[in-house]
Amino acid sequence: MQNETFDLIVVGGGIHGLIIGLTAAEAGHRTLLLEQRQLASDASGGWFRILHGGLRYLQNLDLPRFRASLQDSRWFLREFPELVERQKFLMPLYGQGLKRPAVFRLAFQLERMLGPDRNRGVPAAKRIPRGQVLAAEATARLFPAVSRDGLQGGALWEELVVPGSDALIAAMAARARVAGLAIREYSEVTHLVSAQGRVTGVRAAGTEVNAAKVILAAGPANSVLTRAVDPGAGTKLGFPALAFNLLLDRPCPATTGLSLAIPGKAGGMIFLYPMDGGCFAGTAYQPCPRGTLSGSVPAEAIRDFLAQCNAACPELGAREDDVLSVTSGLLPAATSGDVDLLDRDVIHDHGAHGGPKGLISLTSVKFTTAPSIARRVLHRAFGTGG
Ligand SMILES: Cc1cc2nc3c(=O)[nH]c(=O)nc-3n(C[C@H](O)[C@H](O)[C@H](O)COP(=O)(O)OP(=O)(O)OC[C@H]3O[C@@H](n4cnc5c(N)ncnc54)[C@H](O)[C@@H]3O)c2cc1C
Repeated sequence: MQNETFDLIVVGGGIHGLIIGLTAAEAGHRTLLLEQRQLASDASGGWFRILHGGLRYLQNLDLPRFRASLQDSRWFLREFPELVERQKFLMPLYGQGLKRPAVFRLAFQLERMLGPDRNRGVPAAKRIPRGQVLAAEATARLFPAVSRDGLQGGALWEELVVPGSDALIAAMAARARVAGLAIREYSEVTHLVSAQGRVTGVRAAGTEVNAAKVILAAGPANSVLTRAVDPGAGTKLGFPALAFNLLLDRPCPATTGLSLAIPGKAGGMIFLYPMDGGCFAGTAYQPCPRGTLSGSVPAEAIRDFLAQCNAACPELGAREDDVLSVTSGLLPAATSGDVDLLDRDVIHDHGAHGGPKGLISLTSVKFTTAPSIARRVLHRAFGTGG
């Protein structure tokens, strides 16, 4: 590596680093991707595996995010159709806040109007039908243990999910290598190398590698890496928070996936759906101890989340010895030691804000929107779509 000069070095082999590397290589840029462990060993391995269709962004009429989610989720489906599945979700509605039948009817109508292309280019078996609002009796038929007290109906919709997330990463890496992307796993970047106000490369695994541009897609580690060359940028790149899911050795309590309110936790929701022969429960959030980048989940946090799952769905009856696995990762929070996540992706062009030129940091909040984020980052770096 040390004798070569790349057009671009991408640091971090999560979904963003991988799609940036793939897109850059396909556009003909000589690109190197450096990952400190294996590909997707942080958030992009521990995610909840839902490619959000964008329904959630209609709540606050965030139309750009709705469109980006819709189009990007379909990108995965078109490019890797054999790895993306449809999954139904049911949310019982009790008339609280926005969780009312009339609101969901409107949201499903809006979704149809704003996403007429939602199934364009999608194989027939994978096309997503319209969401619908069910009456209380129909809701109870799908979820027999639902609490009937005050039940007004249920919202039923479909999302795309990626049960074999590792297989998706492997397929993308294979395609990227064919396009010419050089991928080096177990290559931790320890320093950014800069001269005369410009980043000229990185030091990784004891070796200096040169590149015209460097993109950091290392999640919350971005702020650690930029500290020496651009100390002022750190706070803009977010602070680490921990998120995790539990795979439970329990049957899912409905014939669909479920989206359930957590009693006593304002706005708190859990999602349950079948995965690997068990029930996948997500997602819980936990502050990261200040100054650490540890993805390990404390036993107490697992107990708390199990209690929340059982409170939202008593028939789940999950106990600690039902936990088959914990998947976790770091996500960017707005402030240190908090779980209040950044609500948008940050693309920080250091040179445009008084830092070194040739360096862009990306802090991202969703797996789903990685394709459009990659295009935006590369547009920043090279002034083109790739
Ligand atoms: C529990 C959980 C559930 C989630 N569920 C969903 C979901 O259902 N749908 C959705 O769309 N999104 C979901 N997300 C969010 C999504 O997973 C993340 O936004 C996305 O994976 C972030 O990707 P990334 O490539 O930016 O970062 P990461 O996946 O964190 O990748 C960063 C990579 O950089 C590497 N790295 C760090 N430092 C260095 C260094 N010095 N040198 C070299 N490499 C380095 C790390 O090892 C890591 O592999 C979830 C996240 C979590 C944690």
